[in-house]
Amino acid sequence: MSGLVVKPRARIYHGHEWVYSSEVQKVFGDPQPGDVVSLKDFRDRRIGTAIYNPDSQIVARRFSRRKQDLDLDFFRRRFERALDWRVSSLKLGTLPALYRLAWSESDGLPGVIVDRYGDHFVLQTLTLAMDQRKNLITQALVDLFSPAGILERNDSPIRAAENLELDVNGVLYGAAPDPFPVDINGLKMEVDLMGGQKTGLYLDQLDNYAAVGELAKGKRVLDCFCNQGGFALHCARAGAAEVTAVDISEPAIETASRNAELNGLAVNFTAANAFDFLKRLDGEKAQFDLIILDPPSFTRNRKAVKDALRGYKEIHLRALRLLSDHGTLATYSCSHHIGHDLFMEMICDAAVDARRTLRLLDRHSQRKDHPILPSLPESEYLKGYLLQTLPGW
Ligand code: SAH
Repeated sequence: MSGLVVKPRARIYHGHEWVYSSEVQKVFGDPQPGDVVSLKDFRDRRIGTAIYNPDSQIVARRFSRRKQDLDLDFFRRRFERALDWRVSSLKLGTLPALYRLAWSESDGLPGVIVDRYGDHFVLQTLTLAMDQRKNLITQALVDLFSPAGILERNDSPIRAAENLELDVNGVLYGAAPDPFPVDINGLKMEVDLMGGQKTGLYLDQLDNYAAVGELAKGKRVLDCFCNQGGFALHCARAGAAEVTAVDISEPAIETASRNAELNGLAVNFTAANAFDFLKRLDGEKAQFDLIILDPPSFTRNRKAVKDALRGYKEIHLRALRLLSDHGTLATYSCSHHIGHDLFMEMICDAAVDARRTLRLLDRHSQRKDHPILPSLPESEYLKGYLLQTLPGW
């Protein structure tokens, strides 16, 4: 097998699974882009098997510490193992259900994301090697789950880093369904697997909808960046006094409005830029008792962190001004580049400017079907805080 010798002190010796181009000491054999390669340390000892892409900054991603082929059997075993974790950690009763079956490195499948929506599966292949093996992956899913359909949503901009084509959407197996309703914590929400954002829904937030909903009874609620209304609908069902929700995407707001109707709930959905919307509410001296901020990542790389923080701070400052005493802010950041400390520091800055004292009620994270590997910090991205404003301080 061809392969790479990895330089001393590379991150892979500290538990990480990636090899950056700057960490390669030597390439041996003649590995082709997308090949399975052997990794060796500087003393010529084997340290595992990886997928290879010389066009990516991350030239190799280890998927096994042993000698291992990417064959049908491998994919079946990895999916089975991934399924076991979902069944136990999400306490899934009667399958099929709604969950992320496979999440890339966190499930030993670098670049493979599989979301399950009942009988339909949505696949993303974000690395060259996995993209080349789409058919094997599809076959493994068919063998294990006998699904009605497997779709490909390969429109993630992340694919550019591996020199992969963007906007590759289609049917890999069976049929593409029309938009259909799924059950989320007892609420109906429509998913559009071919047209929706991400692969249909923000599965990482499903548990947090329920947790925030529990705080909403009798409250005036504002859900910013609401997408299809997950938080807003849970709050309305919990008996909120009123729910206002805003997202810049017209199609998302249309779906959100249909979702409200499907469940017989009243929510004021508005398609608008949340920055402008918050500014206007602030000008009107509006007041809310529960505000949810769940913006997009604002930053795809480390360089954009400063600008992203400015954006985060602006919406937090506005939100804190709009909150009543003892009001609750549920705030999320899905940017890996903004870690816990930076995020909290920004919130504290905003609180100083808004002259508010905050009490931390709880911390939220991504759902358990997006497993975090501590040795692979990139696997943790979603952090959320529930904060309460203290009066007269
Ligand atoms: N809370 C949502 C997920 C939010 S994802 C849920 O759980 O489903 C971020 C959302 O922000 C997307 O729906 C996107 O359309 C929206 N968005 C991006 N920029 C925006 C802006 N400037 N103003 C309002 N919404 C925005």
